Amino acid sequence: MPMNYDLSCVSLNKSFGDLEAVRDVSFDIPRGSFFSILGPSGCGKTTLMRMIAGFESPSSGDIQLKGKSVVSLPPNRRNVKMVFQHLALFPMMDVAENIAYGLRCQGKSKAEIKRRVADVLERVSLPDVGKKQVSQLSGGQRQRIAIARCMVLDPDVLLLDEPLGALDLKLREHMKIELKQLQDQFDTTFVYITHDQSEALVMSDHVAVMNQGRFEQVGTPQALYHSPGTPFVAGFVGDSNRWNGWVIQRDASGIQLETENGMSMVSTNGAPEARNGDQVSVFVRPEAISVQPIHAKQQQSSAQVNRLQGVVQSVLFNGANSRLLVRTADGQRLETEYPQAGGHSGINKGDSVQLQWSWQQSRCFLN
Ligand code: ATP
Repeated sequence: MPMNYDLSCVSLNKSFGDLEAVRDVSFDIPRGSFFSILGPSGCGKTTLMRMIAGFESPSSGDIQLKGKSVVSLPPNRRNVKMVFQHLALFPMMDVAENIAYGLRCQGKSKAEIKRRVADVLERVSLPDVGKKQVSQLSGGQRQRIAIARCMVLDPDVLLLDEPLGALDLKLREHMKIELKQLQDQFDTTFVYITHDQSEALVMSDHVAVMNQGRFEQVGTPQALYHSPGTPFVAGFVGDSNRWNGWVIQRDASGIQLETENGMSMVSTNGAPEARNGDQVSVFVRPEAISVQPIHAKQQQSSAQVNRLQGVVQSVLFNGANSRLLVRTADGQRLETEYPQAGGHSGINKGDSVQLQWSWQQSRCFLN
C-alpha cells in the first residue's frame, strides 16, 4: 500500500448513461504536493473532483487517502475539504464564525475553537479580520478565508475547483502566487482543477493534462512544456504553431516532411515510429522561432534549421511576452516571439522578415 501518498486514484471510471465522463484514471499524489488537473471544459475534471470528495460514486475503481480506501465512505467521513469557485461563505456570519463553523459541528470546545481560528487567520496573513463581515472583505481576502475555513479542519487533501475563476485578471495573477505560498506554508496536498494552463504551470509540482475523460500525461510543468507526450498536450500546454503534413523521407538524421500548404520542413524531435507517407503533426513554440528583417544581413546559422519568409501582419505588444503574427506568401500564419532588445527591435507591421528555427525545435507526432 503506497503509504507515502496523500491521495491515490486507481483505475477510476464514471459513466453517466452512455457518456464516459472519467475513463481509467490512475494517479498517486505524494505528501504535501501541489497537484493540478488541467483540461478543457467538459473533459471530466469536476466529475473526478466530486468523486474524490465523495459527492459522486465511481462506476468502478478505488480512491485512497493516505493509503486507505475511502470509496465507500460518505463525504463527511473523508478527511477532504473542497473550495468552490463561488466560495460558499456564509453571508450572515462574520469571518471568525465562518471559520469556526466546521469546528463547532465537530463539537470542539469554545477555547479550542478560539485558538484554532486565531491560528489559521494568522497563517493566511489576516489576523485582524475575525470580526468583519464577509461583505467587507476584498475578493483576494475572501479566497484566503475560504481556504482558512477548510484548513482549520486539518484535511489530508484540499480540493480547489477553479477558485480563481470569478476574480479579475490582476487579482488572479496575484492569487496564483499566494495560493502556492499558502500550500507551501500549510504543507498539505492541494488538488487544483483548472482549464487555465498558466495557473496550472505556475503553481503546481505536478500537472495532469486531462482530455475526454482520460489523463493524457502527468508530469512537472517543465516536462509537459518541453516534452509533451501527445499532440493534445503539445497544443494545450503553452502556445504552439502547428502544421499537419506527411513524411517524405525518414532516415537516421530525422524526418523530412511536407505540410498541407506545401512547405518542406525537417524534424529531429519525436515520432520515432514514423515511416514514409505517414501523416504527422508538427509543433513549434513561438519562442523557438528567430525573426530577422529581410533587408538585414542574414545571420550565420547552422544548416540544421527550417526557414520561411513572410510579412509581419500584427505586432502583439505585451512586454516581455510580445509576439509577432507573420503571414507567408502561401497564406500560413505563424506566431513568433517579438525580439525587443538588440539589433532587430525595430520590426514593424508590414516588414518582410525571415523566420528560422532548428530541426530539433520542430516536435513531430504521428497522427
Ligand atoms: P467544466 O470545466 O466546464 O466544469 P469539466 O471538465 O469539469 O468541465 P465535468 O463537469 O466533469 O467536466 O463533465 C464531464 C462530462 O460529464 C460532461 O460531458 C458533462 O456534461 C457530463 N456530466 C457531468 N455531470 C453529469 C451528470 N450528473 N449527469 C450527466 N452528465 C454529466
